[in-house]
Amino acid sequence: MSSKSGFSRRSFMAISAAASAATLFRIVHEPMVARADWQGYPTGAVRIDSNENPLGPCAGARKAAAAIVSDGGRYDDHLTSKFEAMIAEHFGLKPDYVRAYAGSSSPLSYSVFAFTSPKKSYVTADPGYELGMMACPFSGTRVVKVPLTSTYAHDVKAMLAQAPDAGLFYVCTPNNPTGSMTSHSDIEYLVEHKPAGSIVMVDEAYIHFSDGATAMDLVKADKDVIVLRTFSKIFGMAGLRCGVVIAKPDLQTKIAGQGGWSAMPTTAVVAATASLQDAQLLPERKRVNAEIRELACEWLARKGYAFIPSQANHFMVDSKRPAKDVIDALQKQNVFIGRVWPAVPTWLRISVGTPAEMEQFRAAFEKVMNGTTVGYSLPPLKPERRNLDGFVMA
Ligand code: PLP
Repeated sequence: MSSKSGFSRRSFMAISAAASAATLFRIVHEPMVARADWQGYPTGAVRIDSNENPLGPCAGARKAAAAIVSDGGRYDDHLTSKFEAMIAEHFGLKPDYVRAYAGSSSPLSYSVFAFTSPKKSYVTADPGYELGMMACPFSGTRVVKVPLTSTYAHDVKAMLAQAPDAGLFYVCTPNNPTGSMTSHSDIEYLVEHKPAGSIVMVDEAYIHFSDGATAMDLVKADKDVIVLRTFSKIFGMAGLRCGVVIAKPDLQTKIAGQGGWSAMPTTAVVAATASLQDAQLLPERKRVNAEIRELACEWLARKGYAFIPSQANHFMVDSKRPAKDVIDALQKQNVFIGRVWPAVPTWLRISVGTPAEMEQFRAAFEKVMNGTTVGYSLPPLKPERRNLDGFVMA
């Protein structure tokens, strides 16, 4: 991995420039997007707000992480190289196409600094995952938010039309918060028609929960495509921190040039490696997640609530009231759900929890929506207006 060493003077200067942005910019992840000053959950809280996996790391990952703690005094970077090589081999890529980070949040933010500028916009879906957008003020980048289509896919044609100056297109599939898919053919269309020099980032944080096709073939074909993966979701390692960037080496160098390569925690690397060696993990967790999610959605449908069909570990339901009020009222019941997306101000994002957690959610939701919670009543229903895509408007 020769590109790890020998930074040029130019890349050193790029790092210096980014370092001044980094002093102001804090790399956040899912829960911090919602609340930077969070003090922690009360005892017994139902935590279905951050798209985590309540199952946590698999048995092999736990064992591997625990076993390496006693060697924690060593800089065992070769474990990371082996892990990266293992992923590369799996996808039929050369080892320098894969780079591990402590979660996918930092390379997502670094990509904004690497590929956008005051002259090169950042293009994303609305509603979409906000992290990349949050980096844009630090690089003076214009954010282009494009509504999802009527099937809640990224509207790639509108993304292209609205951003001839694009530096980075961000496509999250399944999408956070909607759990909806954008087809491989749409992503290919975006890649084929994008402005010269721009980059398409495909965030596949939730792909293993879905039946969707990966964009890895586009990386293999040396397109200007970056695939982001994380071990925080189906692998249940959000707290252990491991993510990977899969892209051709020149893009890797540009991303890493914004924050440098830092050594990975050995606990995360061995846990991720063991997770990949567990052949049952993906199919089993996909099945469990889908079952719990579908049960919850069927229940909501029976109660008369509209939801967006999801292929992820979260889904959106229309509360037909200001989402903020419902979120606050549920919180009073010790049930924590996702934040508000201004594009869909009456919709709630629910992460898939354990069956017991979902049961607690159903009970609290029913109480809150029927106005029977003690000491809290929701404002009356607002008549709703929908835009052309069927979204409820403010
Ligand atoms: N991408 C998406 C779409 C996410 O929802 C998240 C977290 O929820 C991340 C990236 C970042 O995850 P992490 O930094 O834990 O890898």
